[in-house]
Amino acid sequence: MVRGTLGEHAVVIGAGVAGLASAGALRDRFERVTVLELDAFPPTAAHRNGTPQDRHTHGVLCGGLQALEEVFPGFAGDLERAGAVPLRVGYDLRYERPGFDSFPKRDFGWLAYGMSRPMIERVLRARVEQCANVTLRGRSRVREIVATPDGAAANGVAFEQDGRGQTLAADLVVEATGRGDLTVALLEALHGALPHETSLGVDLGYSTAVFEMPDDAPCDWKGVLCFPKAPQSSRFGILWPIEGHCWTVSLAGRFDDKPPGDPDGFMAFARSLRTPTIADALESAKFVSPVSRFGTRTCVRRDFSNLAGFPQGLIPLGDAICRFNPTYGQGMSVAAQEARLLRRLLDGAVAGSRGLAGVAPAFFVQAQTLLDAPWSMTTALDLAYPQTEGDRPADLEQRRRFGLALLQLAVSDPAVHKLTLAVQHLLEPQSVYGEPALVERVRAVIQKMPGATETRALSSTRA
Ligand SMILES: Cc1cc2nc3c(=O)[nH]c(=O)nc-3n(C[C@H](O)[C@H](O)[C@H](O)COP(=O)(O)OP(=O)(O)OC[C@H]3O[C@@H](n4cnc5c(N)ncnc54)[C@H](O)[C@@H]3O)c2cc1C
Repeated sequence: MVRGTLGEHAVVIGAGVAGLASAGALRDRFERVTVLELDAFPPTAAHRNGTPQDRHTHGVLCGGLQALEEVFPGFAGDLERAGAVPLRVGYDLRYERPGFDSFPKRDFGWLAYGMSRPMIERVLRARVEQCANVTLRGRSRVREIVATPDGAAANGVAFEQDGRGQTLAADLVVEATGRGDLTVALLEALHGALPHETSLGVDLGYSTAVFEMPDDAPCDWKGVLCFPKAPQSSRFGILWPIEGHCWTVSLAGRFDDKPPGDPDGFMAFARSLRTPTIADALESAKFVSPVSRFGTRTCVRRDFSNLAGFPQGLIPLGDAICRFNPTYGQGMSVAAQEARLLRRLLDGAVAGSRGLAGVAPAFFVQAQTLLDAPWSMTTALDLAYPQTEGDRPADLEQRRRFGLALLQLAVSDPAVHKLTLAVQHLLEPQSVYGEPALVERVRAVIQKMPGATETRALSSTRA
């Protein structure tokens, strides 16, 4: 084995954001890495059947960008060169929240980028293509993850390329198919023990269209997020700048109030958002795409830590372990952070003596920590709707009040504003909200809220 590597060959299944970031994480620790993707790779930033969500607005949070920079140094520069629109977080985006229309604008020095999902993927793929020991194989559908006869380890995959059945041996298999079905099928075949799953029935509908940016586009913002007043309405809108002087606009609604798929219905739904900002901006903008629709019934989180008999040499990640509510824009960023975690664990394994053996168990435990904040931050918002299916934590109302009070403090205090943005962008853990002085200030705001109740145990409550 080449010095500094942990194995001869690693296979990644799926070339979405999670798969491509993982290939980057693996490249220095295996002699060869093969990425198998069921779609053919488009030469440009084009939509793919394997990622139907790619027609919808996709933003990368600063914490996701930071992770991608660690895996692919210079990544942000690549995005800019590909035409992505630099966005000063907190300043160029207009956040419209009930009671805070619009939220104060402040530049904290963090940059995000506006671009289409196919463009993000194209830039990532270009980086992977530059890795001499990584091979991208399109039109390759993996049918099965293969295990050793005793079931103790995954040691390859069976796949079809252009209809021809083949197998590949691997020291490590990473499943980044967006679903995790191959890992689940292997577990069922081996012993039937499946990971613990937490799910949330959000029943969300999305409609998205791309517009040419009009000459009279507002100059005081580059993008808008309009949040609904829950639970009275679930109508959400986002207008997002992308490459080519365009806006992508996504509208979302839940349950029996989903946005329609025709241009007139789309515009009427935009007009019905809580504020007129997006509809007004679209008045003189031209549609340059049809309206695409997408439905997400359930968000699912899986926990593979402590799963007895889990085969060595297998790591599912990305949407395969957690599918978030897409309106909060977390999936790609968390996938990138998981890839960075994998890279750090592999680096640690090279320095240690156990080789690959401890990497997957450590990954499963630490990935749960990565998932905790984005999952709990947003599930509290989703559970504000009585129709949302899922377990309701006993302190749900306390969490809601804590979040609201934090926002109130953030309006007048730039330091709190910075902290809340840092947590939302996955740059800081949610535990920063437990700082005693901040908790005291939040408690004081809560006590002035109408219907304030006992706020015991607040210091351990997360927003
Ligand atoms: C409407 C919508 C909007 C969203 N907006 C955002 C956003 O703003 N920000 C954000 O961060 N996230 C957003 N997300 C989530 C984001 O799309 C995912 O979290 C992210 O793409 C990571 O996914 P992944 O790479 O794990 O899976 P995917 O992107 O689904 O990629 C899986 C890949 O695996 C391939 N594949 C599947 N099965 C096989 C097989 N058997 N063999 C070979 N290849 C296979 C597929 O073709 C695909 O290329 C949104 C999601 C939706 C639905």
